[in-house]
Amino acid sequence: MPIKLPSFRPRKDAYPPDLWTKCPSCSEMLFNKQLEKSDRVCSTCGHHFRLSAAARLEGLLDHGSFIELDAGLQSVDTLGFVDQKSYPDRLAAAQLATGLRDAAVRGFGAIDGRRVSICVMDFGFMGGSMGAVVGEKVTRAAEDALSERVPLVIVSASGGARMQEGTLALMQLAKTCAALERLRAACVPFVSILSDPTTGGVFASYAVLGDVNIAEPNALIGFAGARVTAGTIAQELPPGFQRAEFLFEHGFVDRVVNRRDLRREVALLLHYLVPAAWAGNGAAAESRPGFDPIGFLSSLADKVVPDLGPVEPEPDRSPQPGPTRARKPPPARAAARHGDPEASDG
Ligand SMILES: [Zn+2]
Repeated sequence: MPIKLPSFRPRKDAYPPDLWTKCPSCSEMLFNKQLEKSDRVCSTCGHHFRLSAAARLEGLLDHGSFIELDAGLQSVDTLGFVDQKSYPDRLAAAQLATGLRDAAVRGFGAIDGRRVSICVMDFGFMGGSMGAVVGEKVTRAAEDALSERVPLVIVSASGGARMQEGTLALMQLAKTCAALERLRAACVPFVSILSDPTTGGVFASYAVLGDVNIAEPNALIGFAGARVTAGTIAQELPPGFQRAEFLFEHGFVDRVVNRRDLRREVALLLHYLVPAAWAGNGAAAESRPGFDPIGFLSSLADKVVPDLGPVEPEPDRSPQPGPTRARKPPPARAAARHGDPEASDG
């Protein structure tokens, strides 16, 4: 007769899973309510958890000062992109999970009473990836900062450009940089805050163009992943070379600021960085020479190839046609070169 074993019920969890969060850095179990109170920073080891866009705005701006703009902007699936899921399905799932239309939220707010144009990113929405909507919001935030002469604050949290939008996503790099360049030329300050992670196309465009670039402790900041970077340049890279502290030590970011001090720090910076006075119809914009990429490149080309000289009219085709640059040194220099070894010998 078979022995009947008592059936074991699956043991219930001692507490609901959404009550506690395990710190990935020190493995401490953190009570969620306590974690929210401490701006999602681990009280034991100081690990900075990622923040939603709403929590970021709440933590950075004066209470109740935020006015959202362009809330209705929404991505369209121009390319008909399908990977494991279709792009519209991915968007819908992300919208449902986060309650956002896309990975950035922008508008006006105040920090310590000072009005700012602000744009924050949410990593929870498709990895904070930058498609046309994120690029447009960043650009409009910069343009509003320019027209209203108020500082621009951008908080980045992104894996990079959104692959589902292909070239349209890549075009946002140029677009955002162009808007920021106009801002820089008009002497309107831009404070960029790099949170964990700030990588890919966002790192390669607006995130590192701040007048002051602030990083959160231990934030992952870089262009490509560590393995890809090491493989590309075929070199061993130091441990933690893409972390905020390393980048600070090497001068790439200006400050590493604990989240709990971030608001105070930004307020202090905005106290020092005051937009240049508005001289009407954009006259202030001309007070400082702007960056001229074409001029820069042509002067660089002049330095790199100095011996090209003025273009001489080609003589009629010689028997040995060769590139102009491979011409022989002038006779005097050639003679000196031949003479040198003998002089040193004797
Ligand atoms: Zn911890």
